[in-house]
Amino acid sequence: MFDIQKIREDFPILGREVYGRPLVYLDNGATTQKPRCVIDAMTDEYLNVNANVHRGVHYLSQQATELHEQARETVRRFINARSTAEIVFTRGTTESINLVASSFGQAFLHDGDEVILTEMEHHSNIVPWQLLQARMDLRIKVCPISDDGRLDLSALEQLFTPRTRLLACTAVSNVLGTVNPASDIIAMAHAHDVPVLIDAAQAAPHMPIDVQALDCDFLAFSGHKVYGPTGIGVLYGKEKWLDRMPPYMGGGEMIGKVSFERTTFNVLPYKFEAGTPDYIATTGLAKALDYVSSIGFDTIMEHERTLTNYALRRLAEIPGMRIFGPQASSPQQLTDPDDHDAVISFLVGDIHHLDLGTLLDRLGIAVRTGHHCAEPLMHRLGIEGTVRASFALYNTCEEVDALVAAILRVMKMF
Ligand code: PLP
Repeated sequence: MFDIQKIREDFPILGREVYGRPLVYLDNGATTQKPRCVIDAMTDEYLNVNANVHRGVHYLSQQATELHEQARETVRRFINARSTAEIVFTRGTTESINLVASSFGQAFLHDGDEVILTEMEHHSNIVPWQLLQARMDLRIKVCPISDDGRLDLSALEQLFTPRTRLLACTAVSNVLGTVNPASDIIAMAHAHDVPVLIDAAQAAPHMPIDVQALDCDFLAFSGHKVYGPTGIGVLYGKEKWLDRMPPYMGGGEMIGKVSFERTTFNVLPYKFEAGTPDYIATTGLAKALDYVSSIGFDTIMEHERTLTNYALRRLAEIPGMRIFGPQASSPQQLTDPDDHDAVISFLVGDIHHLDLGTLLDRLGIAVRTGHHCAEPLMHRLGIEGTVRASFALYNTCEEVDALVAAILRVMKMF
């Protein structure tokens, strides 16, 4: 049984007030709040175990190393990777994608080659490729979306050429909540012999990920969006690619032997982990993933689906409400809940998104406003920005009611 009140008690911050009102936190797409078990695990490690990993012969160092490597195994299990050699710790999705753009780019891309992105990508899956473009003659091709915010798969099929070297695509849109058919996209790309990078930043908190079933070549996600700490993320990569890619950064731990004449590199995944890793954060991340797994995605998905459907129904009652994304065509009820995630982007009448967000904040409601780091998508939709409510496993229908009541109140002020 999913006891929402008990779940909420796991997240101390949810009990606080802002402006003298109970906090209604609906900015989970940006970052999620942390359960006490994550905070406690990290505090405990600082208090009792802290020592640099991998380097020391002493007790604490070995204990810290064990926790760090156990965390890697927890991540491996969470996404069902074949081996921990395929799990590279990074600072987050952004760094993971930059690593692939830089290192895969160096190993496998040549002047005149092409990568395919989509119109709904976050800037962190656009700009790294543009940085690469500054170093070589790389063509970036973009898969368009339909008016209701779904990828146009027949247009995607047309983009592949013999020069296509990679498809990099988000699993879930951080603006529209669209859940892309990742398996179909990967199968399509593989039929053209093109590897695929999946940006799972918005998928990891909401649905199970199985990299072997997906057969993706790379997958990236951030700890802080899945109830874990900031500053830690994951790059999954198939060994056959990671093995042939050069290191992204140089420094301690990523080497085999160093001399001024010649340096050799460490085995996977350490080749990509230069310097002292955030081993406290990996402990926190593992705790967060265990927390999510202990609730289970069946339960989480059912709760978030109920919540999102309820929110769509309630928001649609508001005069002048304009919802963006796959649910826009039938805002009363998601026709196919599997193609929409717990994110709702909207505008109300001619109220500017920033004004609406600011006034909602004064009423205790935390939402995100703006372009959500997806400016090309905003251009496609012909808008400057939206207000975005994004849900997590601890949100409630009462919080949706509070959001709707607050929007109605703001409307009266205009
Ligand atoms: N990709 C998507 C789809 C996102 O929503 C985000 C963050 O909002 C990112 C990438 C970047 O994540 P981070 O800032 O944690 O690296």
